[in-house]
Amino acid sequence: MGKNRLSGVKGILFDLDGVLFVGKDPIEGAINVVKSVRSKGIVCRFVTNTSTLSISSLQNKLMDLGFEVNENEIISAPQAALLYLKSLNNVTVRLVLADDVKTDFHSLNQRDDNPDYILIGDIGKNWSYELLNSIFSSLTHGSRLIAIHKNRFWQTEQGLQLDIGAFVTGLEYASGLDAMLIGKPSEAFFKMALNSTGLSPEEVIMVGDDIDSDIGGAQQIGLRGVLVRTGKFRKDYFERSSIKPERVIDSVSDLLEDLSI
Ligand SMILES: [Mg+2]
Repeated sequence: MGKNRLSGVKGILFDLDGVLFVGKDPIEGAINVVKSVRSKGIVCRFVTNTSTLSISSLQNKLMDLGFEVNENEIISAPQAALLYLKSLNNVTVRLVLADDVKTDFHSLNQRDDNPDYILIGDIGKNWSYELLNSIFSSLTHGSRLIAIHKNRFWQTEQGLQLDIGAFVTGLEYASGLDAMLIGKPSEAFFKMALNSTGLSPEEVIMVGDDIDSDIGGAQQIGLRGVLVRTGKFRKDYFERSSIKPERVIDSVSDLLEDLSI
């Protein structure tokens, strides 16, 4: 694999969890990589499916970890969901979201009983039969389901953990209805991130640890995908996948050597 594979890069979309940090620890070398690519004039965006934190909490977390990031460089799936719901006229929404994220959704018209839309994000241990069944019941009465993402699993300090994709898929199966997917790997989400850079697809790479959401999503709009072997990366899952990243590196700290800048 030649290093020219990553030539002409003018913009980088960084996934957060598993690429720049895991839990409370930054990935070794990650802070310097972000600093260095910025100093070369490369446009950086931080694109995440994380649905537990509001934009300001997300920025605070990055700053606390040592990353210099502006709020307008962060593109999160909950934020995209909010923009979408605001674009619909006067709809009612049930928010199945973590409390911190809910603070970004105050302007929406909320209703738990048979709303127009039900928005699902990560609520940690709060899933229960009762909750799933009440969502299912609304779906059978005409509510539509929006999933912030459908990730299968994610990497925590304790190892891989079940993500909300399992619950969303279960609800789809039971109701016979498909959820609308907002975050990665949806095309609309990647287009929003790309448009914010003002660059063309050939000039932008996506660096992620999720071969489906990060790499598959990016490639579908013509970006090059760089998979890191940190975070949720698992060798056997990678080898079974039909998605082929343009580049696979041990960690984001190896990115600089692979960029011809
Ligand atoms: Mg990740």
